[in-house]
Amino acid sequence: MYSYRAPLRDIRFVVHEVLDFEQHYRSFGREELNRDLLEGILEEGARFAEDVLAPTNRIGDEHGLRFEDGQVLTPPGFKEAYDRYCEDGWITMTADPEWGGQGLPGGFALAFSEMLVSGNMAWKMYSGLTESASLTIAAHGSEDLKQRYLPKMVSGEWSGTMCLTEAHSGTDLGILRTKAEPRGDGSYSITGTKIFISAGEHDLTDNIVHLVLARLPDAPAGTKGISLFVVPKRLPDGEGHAGAGNGVRCGSIEHKMGIHASPTCVMHFNDSQGWMLGKPNEGLACMFTMMNHARLGVGLQGQGLSELAWQASIAYANDRLQGRAITGAKLPGKPADPIIVHPDVRRMLLTQKAIVEGGRVLCFLTAREIDSSHLNPDPDARKRSVDLVAFLTPIVKAFLTDASLEVTSLAVQVHGGHGFIRETGVEQLMRDARITPIYEGTNGIQALDLLGRKVFGTGGKSVMMMSDRIREAITKFGSLPEVAPLAAELGKRLDQWGKLTMELGAAAMKNPEEVGAAASDYLQVSGYVTLGWCWLAAAGVAAKKIAAGDAEADFYRAKLVTARHYFDRILPRIDSHAAAARAGAAGLMTLPAEHFAFA
Ligand SMILES: Cc1cc2nc3c(=O)[nH]c(=O)nc-3n(C[C@H](O)[C@H](O)[C@H](O)COP(=O)(O)OP(=O)(O)OC[C@H]3O[C@@H](n4cnc5c(N)ncnc54)[C@H](O)[C@@H]3O)c2cc1C
Repeated sequence: MYSYRAPLRDIRFVVHEVLDFEQHYRSFGREELNRDLLEGILEEGARFAEDVLAPTNRIGDEHGLRFEDGQVLTPPGFKEAYDRYCEDGWITMTADPEWGGQGLPGGFALAFSEMLVSGNMAWKMYSGLTESASLTIAAHGSEDLKQRYLPKMVSGEWSGTMCLTEAHSGTDLGILRTKAEPRGDGSYSITGTKIFISAGEHDLTDNIVHLVLARLPDAPAGTKGISLFVVPKRLPDGEGHAGAGNGVRCGSIEHKMGIHASPTCVMHFNDSQGWMLGKPNEGLACMFTMMNHARLGVGLQGQGLSELAWQASIAYANDRLQGRAITGAKLPGKPADPIIVHPDVRRMLLTQKAIVEGGRVLCFLTAREIDSSHLNPDPDARKRSVDLVAFLTPIVKAFLTDASLEVTSLAVQVHGGHGFIRETGVEQLMRDARITPIYEGTNGIQALDLLGRKVFGTGGKSVMMMSDRIREAITKFGSLPEVAPLAAELGKRLDQWGKLTMELGAAAMKNPEEVGAAASDYLQVSGYVTLGWCWLAAAGVAAKKIAAGDAEADFYRAKLVTARHYFDRILPRIDSHAAAARAGAAGLMTLPAEHFAFA
């Protein structure tokens, strides 16, 4: 059984060396957001994730949740870890000081969030949803709603959920049926049943604030008739404490493939009192504040699980003795060599390493851009950051979660038969990872968002903007001898991506089904190009350090080797995805539906 160690050296490489967070925030006049502050978060955060949280991960998976009399009881250790998380102030890190937060930008908290996911993804979901719900209330709530809910949610006393899904309404929210009737006092009566609600009921907090999508009586059909409501489990009393019940009941919890410690609840709202967020019939737009935040959070889940899978794999590959190195015994005194001597095992490990370390650059780069979209004093630069984040969001969500399926599956493979056995713990990672391409909008929907809205919806400008940013890196690092071939290769891939985008655009003009037929492969192409950008930047920094005679040359050489692996063996996957994206809709849509049935 592996144990989790926070990857501090690599996180430091990304935040200090590749992305230079300190300089970034200084350029916005925020000198207090410096390296020392970030180091404090990294050190203490690593301790929390390793010592407090990681020991609960296996317990959560094995023990799971108990559902008794409508109550959900979390696994042993969960409440203690949650209380400590709140008492030590971690939960308030990025929240607005007006509501009791510490006001740190999200980029500062990201490393800690990644460590929490690796420590225990299911546990992290409780506070992750609360954070997203708080942001949504802050962005769209009335002053009164903010005063009533945000201080309690920011402190962690109350938690939050997002209630979109109904049994017949998953991806297609336009057909949801939950009703909202005005009560005549400015509030609404909410009635309906939501399913699959993460953390809909639990014992970590004494109140749960649900953000519920519902329809007003006169609402138009479809997504244009959805409004968003704050519906607490218990109504705040005169002093702002959790008071009387509000007709909100958990009917049952699901028995799932993974994230056993995260309750997935059927939630009944029966004449529950709610208050509208935003304007009537504009609820879906408001909910996107929550969903975009949560989508990046799910991408980070993929990242955190991949890191853990990689750590488990290297530990095992160094330990497990099987066969001899083809070039002669490495450990002649032992009955066999460790499996890390075998090229095929190296292939698996380096593939994991390339995805994990490249994915980390992508996550932090996106977080840095989000911070820039808030903090940059230049409005044009803020707008550019908003556009880039919009473009990167479906890639972070879908590409990194799909990649986590590969990385966790490789972890099982590296462990051989023992990976399939529960004892080693890696099969849990594969099961936990499997939800990430599904929730927060399936990866198929992310792909449609990328190609349909973000690419064609901007007339291709978003791709050009990304390409310009990537070309800046090519120019910056292209003259370094070790990195020049990578830069040249990435330049070719950029051209290939641009050409593919144009071709698909032309095809989509003739037949709109071409978008759906190409989207998933297009997203993969975009993801591999984006990760190529991340690896070029990482390799460029590493090459400069080596040239400067840095004492940690081994660390930087490993970066160059891994970048090479990415460019040689992973980036070429673009060719097959591009071919599939070009293959067109006809091949998918020609066969009549009745052929997809047993004769
Ligand atoms: C563990 C877990 C936790 C969850 N947590 C929450 C939560 O906290 N709050 C919440 O509201 N929901 C939650 N969900 C629900 C989750 O977001 C949905 O399951 C997801 O959005 C997909 O909806 P669905 O399951 O109804 O699948 P469907 O919408 O029925 O989709 C089935 C398949 O069809 C594809 N498909 C559907 N429509 C289209 C289309 N137009 N174009 C192309 N392909 C399409 C999908 O990509 C998918 O592959 C959770 C689900 C699970 C399993």
